[in-house]
Parts: sequence; C-alpha cells; structure tokens
Amino acid sequence: MAVQQNKVSKSRRNNRRAHDSLTAANPNECPNCGELKRPHHVCAACGHYADREVVAVVDDVDLDEDAA
Ligand SMILES: [Zn+2]
Repeated sequence: MAVQQNKVSKSRRNNRRAHDSLTAANPNECPNCGELKRPHHVCAACGHYADREVVAVVDDVDLDEDAA
C-alpha cells in the first residue's frame, strides 16, 4: 500500500479543493416546444435545433416487439 510521505495540512487540502466546485447548468428554453434544453444542443424533447427538426423523435419505443 502506498503511504504518503508528508501530512497534507487542512489549508493545503482546502486550497486544492477550492477549484472542485461544480458550475450550475444554464438551460435555455426551446423555441419550438418550450422545454428546457442545453445551449447549442439539439432539444431532447422535440429534436429541433434553431427552428428546424434535425432529429426525428419517436414517442414510444416498444423494446419487446422483437420477442413476440
Ligand atoms: Zn424542443
């Protein structure tokens, strides 16, 4: 097992962790459906990007259709 050579002080540990905070997401409203979406990304709800549909959205996928 690796053993550290020196104790890391609270100050040094906390200084290291000063940059660990996460930034909050900044969602935009989709101009087509009004759902919140990530900026500069295709809307996950309706598949639109910049007022045009770029991804076809399937309403309900039946995963068991091959089993029958
Ligand atoms: Zn949308």
